[in-house]
Amino acid sequence: MTLQEVRKKYLEFFKAREHAEIPSASLVPMNDPTTLFTGSGMQPLVPYLLGKDHPAGTRLVDSQKAFRSGDIEEVGDNRHTTFFEMLGNWSLGDYFKQEQLPWFFEFLTSEVGLDPAKLYVTAFMGDEKNNVPRDTEAAEIWQRLFAEKGIDNKVVEIGSEEDGYQVGMQGGRIFYYDAKKNWWSRAGVPEKMPAGEPGGPDSEVFYDFGTPHDTKWGPECHPNCDCGRFLEIGNSVFMQYIKNEDGSFALLPKQNVDFGGGLERILAAKLGNPDIFPGAHGPILAHLESLSGKTYADDVKSFRIIADHTKAAVFLIADGVRPGPADQGYFVRRLIRRAVRYADKIGIAQSGFAQVVRPIVDMYKDQYPELEEKIGEIEVAIADEEDRFRKTLARGIKELERYIGAGNLTAQDAFQLVTTYGFPLELILEEAGERGIKQIDIEGFKELLGKHQELSRAGSEQKFKGGLADTAEQTVRLHTAHHLLLKALQLVLGPEVHQRGSNITQERLRIDFNYPQKVTREQLDEIEKIVNEKIKEDLPVVRTEMAKEEAEKLGAEHEFGAKYPDRVSVYSVGPLDKAFSIEFCGGPHVSHTAELAQSGVFKIQKEEAVAQGIRRIKAILQ
Ligand SMILES: [Zn+2]
Ligand SMILES: [Zn+2]
Repeated sequence: MTLQEVRKKYLEFFKAREHAEIPSASLVPMNDPTTLFTGSGMQPLVPYLLGKDHPAGTRLVDSQKAFRSGDIEEVGDNRHTTFFEMLGNWSLGDYFKQEQLPWFFEFLTSEVGLDPAKLYVTAFMGDEKNNVPRDTEAAEIWQRLFAEKGIDNKVVEIGSEEDGYQVGMQGGRIFYYDAKKNWWSRAGVPEKMPAGEPGGPDSEVFYDFGTPHDTKWGPECHPNCDCGRFLEIGNSVFMQYIKNEDGSFALLPKQNVDFGGGLERILAAKLGNPDIFPGAHGPILAHLESLSGKTYADDVKSFRIIADHTKAAVFLIADGVRPGPADQGYFVRRLIRRAVRYADKIGIAQSGFAQVVRPIVDMYKDQYPELEEKIGEIEVAIADEEDRFRKTLARGIKELERYIGAGNLTAQDAFQLVTTYGFPLELILEEAGERGIKQIDIEGFKELLGKHQELSRAGSEQKFKGGLADTAEQTVRLHTAHHLLLKALQLVLGPEVHQRGSNITQERLRIDFNYPQKVTREQLDEIEKIVNEKIKEDLPVVRTEMAKEEAEKLGAEHEFGAKYPDRVSVYSVGPLDKAFSIEFCGGPHVSHTAELAQSGVFKIQKEEAVAQGIRRIKAILQ
């Protein structure tokens, strides 16, 4: 079976059950590894899950392409990829658990042909303190489904993930876990949900590869164990409850299903191979074998990195991103450059790298016909970037040899190579090693790089023309207005709205953000009103330096996919403990919001689409 076949079977299975297929949005950034199949994937659908009518009806199905930049360095093992596809199906107040769980089970066992004895499932154990009952309904449905196949169906209680490592499988088939594992809401566990927030239990399905448990994770194995024996292949979220003012939970008038499953993972289960690459990247690996004369088994790490990174780059370029020094372009650049390095390693002839595009396009053109239309552009973009990288490499290697000529390679030298020539550290270590240098002061290097990143983050944060040098009063005021606007957008359009790009000049500010439809004039009026109120309130604008984790805990907004140093600069509008807005930001800003009024009133001039799912607003102070 191939990826195309699994995807096709999935879409057809649900279309036969009256689901409308919705097209994949442009690449969704997913950086949080804890929300693999829930939450982030459904963001564009949140308004509909909250009761808004979806134009396509109450039963939806899709296959959504996704890119997770946070995993670039992780790629190389048997399951991490930056690009993947998420299978989704939704009931918007239509069917519920009694249909969803049997359907997914039928799809896995009858359509894909997985052995049901290798499937293990989880359900929500309940939260007594917050008055949310145990999801016995889901557990009972699973018991029936396994019994019908003549398979043992013991239900056991695990508790937390940590408990799982102590209590183990206990001969179970269906496992109760706590809210941290089996509950979904935008705010997290029931306790953290504000009044009026919907949420509900979920139920995951795991495939058992039967590999031995690795005790480095804990004494016992269990479905949520990270040792690699179990692979999560899908999760059904049941949006069932709403939190009341008094903290209790009531049933939502219309209950929803939000399902997400991993296409590549379901295929890996079908092939019985915990290595997802032979299935999900088969034709690419075969092509790499013929180009290099080596086999996948000769150097699995290099083959995996080339296959994944090139695939992700192809899709990002098709979505309109070009390799470059900043924003999403920077990810495409990193993906291509890292892939080129590994292509060299397995001996693909220089400048032959763009040939890897063809098998990727062939694999995906049925579902994503734009790839075939754009293949010329994609090949050129990749070949150009390879070319630029090779020129940089050649200069960098000369420089490296000059440093080494002096007898060693200092942290400062390594830092210079990274920042000036764009050398990855792993490449420096490798090249230096080949030239007899075994010791490099990595700690010293990291310190230098951390300081540098903080500075360049501060400088590039607003891709302001001229960076920090442009501190013209009007630009600074618009920058502060930009922060107010982002927060106002979230208040009016929803917390899932985030910045996807920005540009500020002396005349106007511009922000790009994710949102699935046109913002209405009423909403724009509301947004303007909030910004102008905050200007009038004359809130202090405060810069604080803190540990990155602390800033993340405070919910500080940060740029899509950016890597930050361990200590970051954060700007809050209002004092930090009761801030209206908090962002990772290098400034500069006004010291009090009323200064903005000296330029005038905040006005939104234009709202428009820039890409599918991405809107742009231009605004002024006048
Ligand atoms: Zn294990
Ligand atoms: Zn800023």
